[in-house]
Amino acid sequence: MKTTRRKFIANTAKASLLTAIGAPLLTESVIACAPAASAINTPQAFQFSQDALGYGYDSLEPYIDAQTMEIHYSKHHAAYIKNVNEAIAAEKIAATSPLEFFVSVSKYSSKARNNGGGAWNHNFFWSVMKPSATAVAPGGKLGEAINAGFGSFEKFKEQFTQAAMTRFGSGWAWLVLKDSKLLIGSTPNQDNPLMDVSDFKGKPLLALDVWEHAYYLKYQNKRNEYVSNWWSVVNWEEVSKHLA
Ligand code: MN
Repeated sequence: MKTTRRKFIANTAKASLLTAIGAPLLTESVIACAPAASAINTPQAFQFSQDALGYGYDSLEPYIDAQTMEIHYSKHHAAYIKNVNEAIAAEKIAATSPLEFFVSVSKYSSKARNNGGGAWNHNFFWSVMKPSATAVAPGGKLGEAINAGFGSFEKFKEQFTQAAMTRFGSGWAWLVLKDSKLLIGSTPNQDNPLMDVSDFKGKPLLALDVWEHAYYLKYQNKRNEYVSNWWSVVNWEEVSKHLA
């Protein structure tokens, strides 16, 4: 929006007057230029928020048990959200979106990096799962891209499983799009492929949490069983949307 200097001065004067008499600062021109009303009222324009789960804690049974889902969502994920927003406020991080946050994450504290990753990764993870998913190979553009990239759906699953199994300690396995190609990789801790610090980069299409908190109650040390059962709850329609 183009504002003439004269108009700007007039609006500024009007705003000062309104402020002086205790009226809200929102003149019409300010509203028209503002990104969102909420951004004006808070010192930080961007905070992470926890997406609604979209299904019940017990909806992914028997593959992922209700108790694990409840603790994972209401304790672990909720804590990442709370902690990253504390870091954003304390460090006055001026990112306006998760993408902006992650491309500059090397400049922030480890609290911001770890909890920012935890906040975003889990929102993404919940969205790529659903109850009574079809365990069959996805069709359409995604199916073609998987066949082109890995030879077959079975080979894709093998490679993804290997990434999940060989991630030592805590971390994530990913399918990403990079330079029009599908790639499989993994990241440590709560890092993700959007982060400037990550060795493995790309646009996330699918993610699997391989932290022990994601499976230990039901599977204990058997990460392979967790991964193998997890294919039964993958929401391929959602994964396809990220490819579009
Ligand atoms: Mn987790």
